[in-house]
Amino acid sequence: MCVMEMSHRSKVFQQIVDEAEADLRDLMGIPDNYKVLFIQGGATLQFAAVPWNLMKNGKAVYVETGAWSKKAIAEAKKYGEVIVAASSKDKNYSYIPDCSDLDIPEDADYVYICENETIHGVTWNKLPNTKGHVLVSDQSSMFLSKPCNVSDYGMIYAGVQKNVGPAGVVFAIIRKDALGKVSRYIPTMLDYRTHIDKESMFNTPPVFSIFVMNETLKWVKDMGGVAAIHKLDVEKAGILYKEIDRNALFTGTAAVEDRSIMNVCFVMAPGYEALQDEFLSFAKGQGMVGLKGHRSVGGFRASIYNACTKEDVLALTACMKEFESMKK
Ligand code: PMP
Repeated sequence: MCVMEMSHRSKVFQQIVDEAEADLRDLMGIPDNYKVLFIQGGATLQFAAVPWNLMKNGKAVYVETGAWSKKAIAEAKKYGEVIVAASSKDKNYSYIPDCSDLDIPEDADYVYICENETIHGVTWNKLPNTKGHVLVSDQSSMFLSKPCNVSDYGMIYAGVQKNVGPAGVVFAIIRKDALGKVSRYIPTMLDYRTHIDKESMFNTPPVFSIFVMNETLKWVKDMGGVAAIHKLDVEKAGILYKEIDRNALFTGTAAVEDRSIMNVCFVMAPGYEALQDEFLSFAKGQGMVGLKGHRSVGGFRASIYNACTKEDVLALTACMKEFESMKK
């Protein structure tokens, strides 16, 4: 019997869930005072679940750094007062604002960030100064790509589909004392306490996604853990950014110091804009797929998640070099 046929309440499947949690705890160094949950609904459902569960005073601070934090803000506004304390909208979300001294009301329930903006290709290298407030981070497109100190956060969540497995699971890491403060009614499936009480097994979990996640976490361990993966990810991104900076045909869109090591965004350099489609089809002919930037930003985006190898990145830079030599 394969994992998709057997009962999710079987000992075999329970062991898979237990292993996945233990490996995640081990890899991310998750302290005992944090709960680890595997839940459904995609990262998008967390845009609602976070305010439902954490907005006690009905007020939260958000930092707007790109498409995904913008969506989280729009959702949270339905449930409470949202204070956008900093935004990089003025420069099309191409940088991370200075958040060392944000204006945070005393009674704000949490400070929310999207730690890597998948569409705009910017990432936080220094967490905001939350002035003692709970920090909530959407790590969907960067978790397990760099070590993080879980104790700096009240909650971290991420959809697993970028770095760990097929879509269907979100993992949430929540400091126990951040919960149980709201008195509002919370729909059962949105209430983190439901999933805590039932150890992520309140209803049928996405068994295949959890199975693959478990295998992938073991792969991360075999690779030497998060620090080793990070080294490789930095090297891969470095190769690509170096080519973008060197090649006269292309230019990066994110501020150099805030560039993502997962989502590398670039466009044709001024004067070469008309070559965009030609480069895309040339690259496609060389086996490069999924290079087109998101429709809201245009240009190109190379998402070089953990499964993408250094050789894959070198193939892309070779393709960029060849295109350059054709055009010069
Ligand atoms: N947050 C970030 C940073 C994302 O990249 C994504 C998806 N790409 C989401 C949230 C939404 O995730 P989902 O599609 O799983 O709801």
